[in-house]
Amino acid sequence: MALIDFKCKECGHEFFEIVNSNDKVLCPKCKSENVERIYKGKFYGKGSCSGGCSTCSGCH
Ligand SMILES: [Zn+2]
Repeated sequence: MALIDFKCKECGHEFFEIVNSNDKVLCPKCKSENVERIYKGKFYGKGSCSGGCSTCSGCH
């Protein structure tokens, strides 16, 4: 489980969701599935974690 930032490619809305590995994420605004993940790093700022470990639960 990880807290992931998303941006909707349809309407540009940015949001975050707590997702499991293969959950489908919909834009809460326009219900589009056309969303992309954003790794801002602000939730993963500890230690050596670079923010690429969305499946890691031990470093933040
Ligand atoms: Zn949208």
